[in-house]
Amino acid sequence: MIAGNRLINYLRISVTDRCNFRCQYCIPASPFTVIEHKKIARYEELLRVTRLACDLGITKVRITGGEPFVRKNIFSFLEKLCAIKRLKDISITTNGSLLTREKIKKLTSLGIKRLNFSLDTLDPVKFAQITGRDRFQQVWESIHAAHELGISPVKINAVVLRGINDDEIEDLSALTLNDPFHIRFIEYMPMGDSAVEKQQQILTNEIKEKIESRFGKLMPIERTENDGPAKKFQIPGAKGIVGFITPISSHFCSECNRLRLTSRGTLRPCLLNNYEKDILNPLRNGASDTELKDIILSALTKKPSFHGLTDQPFRNIPISHMTSIGG
Ligand code: SAM
Ligand code: SF4
Repeated sequence: MIAGNRLINYLRISVTDRCNFRCQYCIPASPFTVIEHKKIARYEELLRVTRLACDLGITKVRITGGEPFVRKNIFSFLEKLCAIKRLKDISITTNGSLLTREKIKKLTSLGIKRLNFSLDTLDPVKFAQITGRDRFQQVWESIHAAHELGISPVKINAVVLRGINDDEIEDLSALTLNDPFHIRFIEYMPMGDSAVEKQQQILTNEIKEKIESRFGKLMPIERTENDGPAKKFQIPGAKGIVGFITPISSHFCSECNRLRLTSRGTLRPCLLNNYEKDILNPLRNGASDTELKDIILSALTKKPSFHGLTDQPFRNIPISHMTSIGG
């Protein structure tokens, strides 16, 4: 599929808007409701849209949420997803708190070899403050179990916020010294009404400077096919990789190859633009495969060439919060 001059081959499927964490930067500050069960796309419905999207050129899928592992019977869905032959790459983004060695083994036996974990701090007390849950140890153990069980690469996403975890940039980077972890620093995106203030947002240059002043000049690493938007570097002599995801300081819209399918059954061509096209209701009302493919293609015609977030004053665009879209 083509949007403008971009080849769209990557579908992000959010299987749920629910999460067992309450991360400050992700969850809205004001009260919010979750989607009614009947309005959530059933697994079969997500699979049908995915198969049709594969007919149109999707070859990569990432499962996200909310927290994907809070959804019941997720493994039966993953098994069917992994049986779609045209999918060359299936990965998952998770907070890691509900994963066990057994579950990670199951993932690898299904052929899922890439996992992204979210971990913003190495301090269990701060972890509980950021996520609202006292689950540091479980997440830490999942990350190490994933590494031991052959998940490769194990990627660790960290959103750095001033006054919260900016004093841990160096220690998080040091995770790459002896293990082949990829630690990726993501710039905070002002979405919805999270409690994060403008002055807490830290951009990549500042993060990079801190790392370089501790470890020396970062060495740029050549991009590979599965890198996505991360700009990759290595601390001299380290086994792992330090990456930066820069939606604010240097947007990567011209290279964006993604389409999102939300748990509400809408197609969202851009994370940072509220346009969504409903595909679930037409599907439930008996639309044919051809009609559903037309809906997918027409959603893509609305993929903006640039997200526009950086042209606006902080939090001026009320973008739906992450858990409802799928990060
Ligand atoms: N629950 C899973 C997790 O935490 O990995 C998957 C969903 S979460 C929305 C996906 C990613 O989005 C996480 O790495 C999280 O750190 C990131 N994220 C959430 N809100 C964000 C924000 N406002 N700005 C930047 N990244 C954000
Ligand atoms: Fe949940 Fe992930 Fe959002 Fe944290 S970042 S609240 S774990 S969806």
